[in-house]
Amino acid sequence: MGSLFEKFTHLTQIEYLLLTFTIILFVFLWILYFNTREKRKLKAQMESNVTAFQKTCAISDDAIMILSENNKVQYANNAMIRLLELKDNFLLKNLDTTAQIKVKKEWFDLGSFVLEHHMGLNDTLLSYPTSQLKTSEGHETPIHFYMDSLLMDLSSTMVSYVITIQDLTKVKEQSNSQFKHQLTQLPNQLQAHQDLPAFFAKAHLEKNKLALVLLHLDNFSRLRSIIGYEQANSVLEKMAGYLEAVGADLNLKIYHTFDNHFLLTVTNVHSMDDATSLVEDIQQKLSSFYKLEDVSLHLTVSAGIALYPDSGSIRKLLDHAYKALAEAEKEGDGKIHIFIPENFNSQYDELRLHNDMPAALKHGEFEVYYQPIIQVKNQEVVAAEALIRWKHPQYGLIPPDVFISLMEKTGFIIKLGQYVLDEVLKQQKRWELFKFKQIEVSINVSMVEINTGEFVEHVEKKLGEHQINPRLLKFEITEGIAMSNENETVRYFHALKKLGVGISLDDFGTGYTSFGYLKKFPADTLKIDKSLVDYILTNEEDQRIVKAIIELSHTLDMKIVVEGIENKKMVEMIASYGCDYMQGYHFSKPLPVFEFQKLLR
Ligand code: C2E
Ligand code: CA
Ligand code: CA
Repeated sequence: MGSLFEKFTHLTQIEYLLLTFTIILFVFLWILYFNTREKRKLKAQMESNVTAFQKTCAISDDAIMILSENNKVQYANNAMIRLLELKDNFLLKNLDTTAQIKVKKEWFDLGSFVLEHHMGLNDTLLSYPTSQLKTSEGHETPIHFYMDSLLMDLSSTMVSYVITIQDLTKVKEQSNSQFKHQLTQLPNQLQAHQDLPAFFAKAHLEKNKLALVLLHLDNFSRLRSIIGYEQANSVLEKMAGYLEAVGADLNLKIYHTFDNHFLLTVTNVHSMDDATSLVEDIQQKLSSFYKLEDVSLHLTVSAGIALYPDSGSIRKLLDHAYKALAEAEKEGDGKIHIFIPENFNSQYDELRLHNDMPAALKHGEFEVYYQPIIQVKNQEVVAAEALIRWKHPQYGLIPPDVFISLMEKTGFIIKLGQYVLDEVLKQQKRWELFKFKQIEVSINVSMVEINTGEFVEHVEKKLGEHQINPRLLKFEITEGIAMSNENETVRYFHALKKLGVGISLDDFGTGYTSFGYLKKFPADTLKIDKSLVDYILTNEEDQRIVKAIIELSHTLDMKIVVEGIENKKMVEMIASYGCDYMQGYHFSKPLPVFEFQKLLR
């Protein structure tokens, strides 16, 4: 190391200069080599860029043209050739077109407009977002006109001008079709994502309910494999058409999100029952609508519903609707599921109860209890009231007050009522066979059941099926309900009377029925409401009212049942008014059938 250093220090001046020169030369050559290599690379890249640019331009729907600094056409793509009707040999010539452009309400010759503007165009982009173009045929097209200066070749300072004309009619068509489902032309998922924030904001600000309903045509891939692709598509088209009509009627927005999935936004919902009954209607209509060469296809539709605010945060509403749909699909075909948030707080979760009802009926969670009705004069059990109980796997025994009104809203009460009637009639038959004392059993009916228009017929059919004497059956209808729909009720009462079954006006004394009115109703019994009896031992007014009702009903040939009798003192007082029958905890609470029938031995 030391000796090499010594050698350098012993070089002559000439040798030293020569060495320095060699080093400098080497560095220079090295730089030159890299420079040309980079330039060549850049040029190649530039050329390939130009080719790529030309290729892109060639297929572009936008009309593109490049003009040289001295106004010669260097390039025009097909769209531009068509739009400006350029002659065959237009290249490297002045722009020759009869097209006119309207800018700021004034028409210009396109050629001179371009010439005038590229003179004054430096680095700035010239852009007219909404102008019009008129061709030789006088056809006017809305366009977006851009003009920009561009250095086409790095090695020269020559500026070119790129002119782009976007045909806005095409853009509009394209963007419209982007938001529509190809098959059904309904707004699609993209459109839904665009619309939802506005729906959410509105519901949130106006504190309204908003339901997102996801509908899913069940077993679609199987259906497609059976009836074929075309037919399956036509099923979807029909479904879309039907949903669109419903949507127009009810002011819902319908989206065809994908394949066999549809989304409905329902803004005019007041309760979750509104949403479910809407879906039930749709399910019913869709289930029988499709005929294939005279063969009716039975189609089922599952639905997932998320309701704001009941189903939780609005941001997650769509996710929750999807979760609900997944649940509905798990439950089987044609099911509806409402999303229930984990932290939903209430003693009984109405949403859950609603979802659980159909399965509960199938799994035998409902049970009819019987409460004895005692004849006052001999203190014997002469009748019973059937009272429904729900043994819920999670909540335990649920009192009917909790779920009856919910069922009335959703219409499920119709199924429940049929179940109760069936159970009671079967029970009557067993008591007859096993020689128990035959007693009259009353069943509570709601107006919803009567309004089906098939109630009386159904009762008649069931009496026949079970071979039960109609005298052993009575229906209890609350006073309030009966009066709210007076004429209808009178008609039904007469029809029921014709069958030979009894009728009782329940909860009497809370409404405002005058005795004059009462004459019109062919009821056999009045049941005095518990609220009139609760404080009867101390409240003199209640005493007078109960006494008056008993006396007056007797003049109308109606028997009286007083319910809510809880002690001996009440029995004595009310018996002294001439009451015919009594019911209450003093005699017995409502009991399961095996307990109850011991009273009939
Ligand atoms: P309701 O028809 O007025 O039935 C009488 C209610 O009073 C029953 O309540 C019964 O258990 C209760 N009760 C009877 N005696 C006494 C007493 O001494 N003291 C007290 N505190 N309460 C007494 P439940 O079973 O909870 O039924 C409540 C309501 O649910 C019924 O009122 C009825 O409107 C409805 N309901 C029950 N079962 C059915 C049904 O199968 N169909 C329909 N549509 N409604 C039903
Ligand atoms: Ca009752
Ligand atoms: Ca009652």
